[in-house]
Amino acid sequence: MFAKIEKGKGEKMIIVMKPGAPAAEREKIKTMLLRENFQINEIIGASMTVLGVIGDTSTLDPKRITVNDFVEKVMRVQEPFKRANRLFHPDNSIVNVSGVPIGGKKLAIIAGPCSIETDEQMAAVAEAVKAAGAHLLRGGAFKPRTSPYSFQGLKERGLGMLHEAGNKTNLPIVTEIMSADKIGEFVETVDLIQVGARNMQNFELLKELGKTNVPILLKRGLAATIEEWIMAAEYIMAGGNENVILCERGIRTYETYTRNTLDLSAIPAAKKLSHLPVIVDPSHAAGMWWMVEPLAKAAIAAGADGLMIEVHNDPENAWCDAAQSLKPDRFANLMKDLRAIAPIVGREL
Ligand code: PEP
Ligand code: MN
Repeated sequence: MFAKIEKGKGEKMIIVMKPGAPAAEREKIKTMLLRENFQINEIIGASMTVLGVIGDTSTLDPKRITVNDFVEKVMRVQEPFKRANRLFHPDNSIVNVSGVPIGGKKLAIIAGPCSIETDEQMAAVAEAVKAAGAHLLRGGAFKPRTSPYSFQGLKERGLGMLHEAGNKTNLPIVTEIMSADKIGEFVETVDLIQVGARNMQNFELLKELGKTNVPILLKRGLAATIEEWIMAAEYIMAGGNENVILCERGIRTYETYTRNTLDLSAIPAAKKLSHLPVIVDPSHAAGMWWMVEPLAKAAIAAGADGLMIEVHNDPENAWCDAAQSLKPDRFANLMKDLRAIAPIVGREL
């Protein structure tokens, strides 16, 4: 948890002095600002000096500075996001998902089928991923399918089946929400509520989720910039729910060989800009099972806090995303390899 960001705290001010401005004039401005408890960062160049003013500059009238003849200009710099911003929260956030910490030293692995199909399928996959060392169980009950004629998910019945499989294996459950009218039900049964790529900018849904305190897994939109993605997290956090985990799942590019292009650079970028945990879903990025393993390893090597991986006990007959689903034995092998990689990048698994 972190201190509330007051209005205006995201603002900074930059004062550019005129070339050749006497040092005494600069000192006059500095003294005035220091007296008012601002901090000053001074950059002295060959021909120009710049003063960075740190503190809540929202109430500081720039005219008080521009009256000085030796000031070239005064600029306000507004940070686009506040609660999600690492600037105001230098330490990594750790989101606790029903006892599983995400964002700390220990990596968090979410695994399970694309869709919940039958009790038998859920039991088989849940037991297999648990045995391989997964920490959370996924499964879609409300599916955002490209075609309205494709399987849309088992809905409430599916949620019940996922809940049951999670209970039996003692794994917290992760599933996607598609509309705000289901929030009440999800809050009761789901440990980590997923907002899918297609809903990343469903601002009304994000605002409603911000009123809950259930952890939210926010996938990056199909063509969202990193800033848009973090701004979407800000929507949830602005409502008071600071338990947000970012998930990179590949973006739309000109490449058609893969389902999406996994943006590995989004991991260090999002972690530099934000204190929120960042996990990676290599399954929806690649679209092909044989690419999931190398991409998963790359994501952990690049600093991801965890992974979301689609696993199916019988991919040949899966109702959704068959081509990208790992069989349980391949998932177990991947976990073994990840256990070897984790300590190299200072993590545990
Ligand atoms: C999913 O995880 O099942 C899913 C639909 O993912 P995305 O929103 O990333 O496409
Ligand atoms: Mn899927």
